[in-house]
Amino acid sequence: MAEISDLNSATALLGWDQQTYMPPGGVIARGNQIGTLSSLAHSKFVSQDVGVLLEDLKPYAESLDPDSDDFCLIEVTSRDYDKQKKVPSDFVAEFSRVTVVAHSAWEEARKNDDFSHFQPHLEKIVEMRRQYADFFAPYEHVYDPLLDDFEPGMKTAEVQEIFSELRPKQVELIKAIGEKPEVDDSFLHQSFEDQKQWDFGEQAITKYGYDWDRGRQDKATHPFTTNFGVGDVRITTRVDPNFLNTALFGTLHEAGHAIYEQGVSPDLERTPLGGGASLAIHESQSRMYENLLGRAYDFWVYFYPKLQEIFSTQLGNVDLDTFYKGINKVAPSLIRVEADEATYNLHIMLRLELEIALMEGKLMVADLPAAWNERMDDYLGVVPSNDAEGVLQDVHWSSGVLGYFPTYSLGNLVSNQLWEKINLDIPSLSSQIQGGDFSELLAWLHENVHRHGSKFKPQELVTRIVGSRIAPEPYLKYLNEKFGSIYQL
Ligand SMILES: [Zn+2]
Repeated sequence: MAEISDLNSATALLGWDQQTYMPPGGVIARGNQIGTLSSLAHSKFVSQDVGVLLEDLKPYAESLDPDSDDFCLIEVTSRDYDKQKKVPSDFVAEFSRVTVVAHSAWEEARKNDDFSHFQPHLEKIVEMRRQYADFFAPYEHVYDPLLDDFEPGMKTAEVQEIFSELRPKQVELIKAIGEKPEVDDSFLHQSFEDQKQWDFGEQAITKYGYDWDRGRQDKATHPFTTNFGVGDVRITTRVDPNFLNTALFGTLHEAGHAIYEQGVSPDLERTPLGGGASLAIHESQSRMYENLLGRAYDFWVYFYPKLQEIFSTQLGNVDLDTFYKGINKVAPSLIRVEADEATYNLHIMLRLELEIALMEGKLMVADLPAAWNERMDDYLGVVPSNDAEGVLQDVHWSSGVLGYFPTYSLGNLVSNQLWEKINLDIPSLSSQIQGGDFSELLAWLHENVHRHGSKFKPQELVTRIVGSRIAPEPYLKYLNEKFGSIYQL
């Protein structure tokens, strides 16, 4: 397992370089290198030897405390092994060929606003995702095996139930906001020096507790976090010289992911447990640092005077209240990655519903753009004038990834469930944040979330901490209180 983990870390390092410093000419060689290392890691993992070792360990596991590292290691490794064994390696190779071609077809389709160019590739991908699901038959729902790859143990029915409770209430909130006067955020769209934006972001995440001895920040077109062990967790960001939010909230978000990885117990290093529990749990950490802290009034009580000093010409005459409302402006928009807190989940629900309909065969790929636009109108009241700003905007489907989107919304929900508990456990949190002190919060997250790595399934981890499964109520309460006060609803 340690050798496989090393191979995966080396692959991740090559991927980090590809997205930060590699010259364009390196792309083919890099593809080969990553391909070789990944298939080496895969074949080492699904080998007969591993199966025999796992079988031999079963009686030992039965003698262990289910919370112990060893028990969880055997449990999680066996689960991954059983899953990966079910997928023939020629299918894996074929799928990877299909998605490489589909990805470049998607890039071109998006550039030329021509969905029909991407359509046959997506049809192939959907067909192969159904075949993939069938390797795990019998299942309750054809979407379950896809979801399970990102949220171990999560079922489609449960996500649908959560979302069907969430959707009408969020639509209602957005309608109410839409009837109120627009919030002014024009001061965020000015010229802000790159280096000063960069420095402020680093200052903020240093306060958060991001450890620079075990990390660094670089520029990338699509920001991400990656790690090669608990001692090397890197983040990336992009800077827009004419919009303050891009680098600022991007950096705060990625720092949340990185602080999580930096907090995984070193005892779990070089094992399958040495990383975040799931995408939703990961996103709960990034959203917490981006939104529950970074878009909160308390945070800016401490940081706003500092930001004003750095950008005195741009923000000198903008008071804290105006700034706070500006960074929390709600406006239904076409693009998911630019969506505000109140509208974001609706972008996700639309994608989930379409993915499920595609997998069930109830929606044909050819009808996808129309279905997309119809739901945009229903949920957000805006309709894209072209597919590039609509159905073609996200990279996920072109890479063969279905089942990923719901984890973004689940992360939002989990972040608020944790936040309620944190505020009960740390009654003075609000004043600590106003004083720029995030240490007690970090210690809490470390103790309850970070150190466990992926020992526990996401639902199990959430239940251990807050006493119930992933649920929408705390998130809805948060949205209603926050935006009720900003928009005087
Ligand atoms: Zn994220």
